[in-house]
Amino acid sequence: MKTYRIAAIPGDGIGTEVVAAGIEVLNALAGREGGFELQVDHFDWGGEYYKKHGRMMPEDGRDQIRDHDAILFGSAGHPDIPDHITLWGLRLAICQPFDQYANVRPTRVLPGITSPLRHVDGDELDWVIIRENSEGEYAGVGGRVHQGLPLESATDVAMFTRPGVERIMRFAFRVAQSRPRKLLTVVTKSNAQRHAMVMWDEIAAEIAREFPDVTWDRMLVDAMTMRMVTKPKSIDTVVATNLHADILSDLAAALAGSLGIAPTANLNPEHTYPSMFEPIHGSAFDIMGKGVANPIGTFWSSVMLLEHLEENAAASRLMGAIERVTADPDFHTPDLGGNATTDKTTAAVIEAIRGAND
Ligand code: NAD
Ligand code: MN
Repeated sequence: MKTYRIAAIPGDGIGTEVVAAGIEVLNALAGREGGFELQVDHFDWGGEYYKKHGRMMPEDGRDQIRDHDAILFGSAGHPDIPDHITLWGLRLAICQPFDQYANVRPTRVLPGITSPLRHVDGDELDWVIIRENSEGEYAGVGGRVHQGLPLESATDVAMFTRPGVERIMRFAFRVAQSRPRKLLTVVTKSNAQRHAMVMWDEIAAEIAREFPDVTWDRMLVDAMTMRMVTKPKSIDTVVATNLHADILSDLAAALAGSLGIAPTANLNPEHTYPSMFEPIHGSAFDIMGKGVANPIGTFWSSVMLLEHLEENAAASRLMGAIERVTADPDFHTPDLGGNATTDKTTAAVIEAIRGAND
């Protein structure tokens, strides 16, 4: 029997609630599927840890999780701590050194979920957004000087490297190639940003030659927001920079019905370091502690975790269970207009896993 070591980092706010639910579901699956088991190690890093120790995770934190097979992450963000400290101190402190350069965000309108776009369901809106996750606008290059003086100034420099752009383009073309429509949209802003974004476009065209069976087009990011709303069916796989994809994927999550459903994977495709799986949403201070957080985003992220471990039977069993549960409004949490609790939805997914004999 294979044993996978999973590092659970619930973080803050509803992160703790949804990761607990995710672990329950993963354990139910391991029991149902056979063939593998999970050893889950919990790490209490985040805002509360920061209040005690002055840092979001221990100095040797990454060493503690380096040999795990995957990381299930909740959210970094605490009401009493500035967001740039929690984000850089935990989430980015794992993503960047572990070279999780491909951030994958599937978006689909699940059964029973209503898109805010009229007449749009899973046939019209079925996308995968690939976000460059290691450089670009979030490279961390920049600085502040003359604070408190009239001369105060600050820079955030977007840094793009040829190898960084080549590898994300190649990854995105591969994802597009693996999907039935073989269609990729490269998002850019090379009209206004005339250096790095022009190189981005050039490299996209170069890599495209390696994938003659993939149809691709190029779209300015502002126009892309309109296309996502007005012609969702014209889109399949999308690749965009760190910042552009960050914004587009929140729009995508909203169009698919709720931020609470949207999953993401921070992949190190070469498996040199562990990859990290997390719901897109944050700590949701407004609902934390109430037991009503939607756990579906974490469950769908767990599907991606299982796919990364190549436990494909378990992954599709879980996705099937999720879809059976979302199809029933009785199990919708308040963000979807229902009144189910996190526990009720979780129990329903576990029930669907146990019952499923496909
Ligand atoms: P948020 O995602 O926490 O919440 C936005 C809105 O969506 C809130 O009204 C919230 O109640 C709702 N929501 C989010 N997830 C939900 C779920 N699972 N079920 C039901 N409703 C849900 O975004 P925010 O308010 O901008 O940020 C709050 C904190 O989280 C901040 O500190 C921010 O920095 C942090 N954050 C962290 C991450 C991350 O770690 N990946 C991502 C986004 C935000
Ligand atoms: Mn975001």
